[in-house]
Amino acid sequence: MDCIFCKITKGEIPATFVAESEHAVAFNDISPRQPVHVLVVPRAHYTDVAELAVSDAAVLADVIQLGVRVAELTSTGSFRLQFNTGAEAGQTVFHAHAHITSKTPRA
Ligand code: AMP
Ligand code: ZN
Repeated sequence: MDCIFCKITKGEIPATFVAESEHAVAFNDISPRQPVHVLVVPRAHYTDVAELAVSDAAVLADVIQLGVRVAELTSTGSFRLQFNTGAEAGQTVFHAHAHITSKTPRA
């Protein structure tokens, strides 16, 4: 399977990592739409958050907990945690991931 996020989680192509946990990694989005824009990606492949939610609740919880930690590490204010799910919702990479975005980067 030719999945760009599987390659990043395995270290086969580079990314700027921000944090990691047992089941997930966090790295900067290559094309940021906000001053803080980090992706939180489970190490295992799931097509989207819907598949992740029915497959492994522990991994889903780990992704969300890592997302909150990333927000605390990278931002001083409010943040969004967003899962685009399906092409019509804007999903372009079909390996589940959360976007952490914020307007207030930590200096
Ligand atoms: P989505 O549109 O919700 O599927 O989000 C996919 C995100 O992955 C987009 O915001 C892209 O900018 C980002 N992206 C694609 N390729 C890479 C990459 N090699 N490294 C980091 N982020 C990437
Ligand atoms: Zn994958």
